[in-house]
Amino acid sequence: MDAELKELYQQVILDHNKNPRNFKKIENANHFAEGYNPLCGDRLNIYVELEGGRIKDISFQGSGCAISKASASLMSSIVKGLPVEEAERLFEKFQAVITGKITDEENIEELGKLAVFAGVKEFPSRVKCASLAWHTMIAAFKQEEKSVSTE
Ligand code: ZN
Repeated sequence: MDAELKELYQQVILDHNKNPRNFKKIENANHFAEGYNPLCGDRLNIYVELEGGRIKDISFQGSGCAISKASASLMSSIVKGLPVEEAERLFEKFQAVITGKITDEENIEELGKLAVFAGVKEFPSRVKCASLAWHTMIAAFKQEEKSVSTE
């Protein structure tokens, strides 16, 4: 990855960390899950309003490192309005990219803005920071009451 692109990616992460999108509790949420990443101490609550198999609204609250927060912010702005199955497919792809299972440019580009996290594959300890929001969202879809741990 060239330095300019890396710089751009870093800016996207910094921006979402500083001004997180959908950082609130939505009143009409009908799905909820708590996520925890003990390796880093990231804690996220994900609120989802599902309607007819579609993500009508999604938000998050919590505290954590820049990567976990930026990932939750980007995820929420990207999956809002998508059918649940599509969000699940996106998660599988995202997971494959950040763990280095998918490395070809074409596949990574398909992730759009989410591609900013492709670089975490070089830092195995940060993979869980980037995926915490996603794991928690998937748990919220299933409306599991218990907390989610990445361990
Ligand atoms: Zn973290």
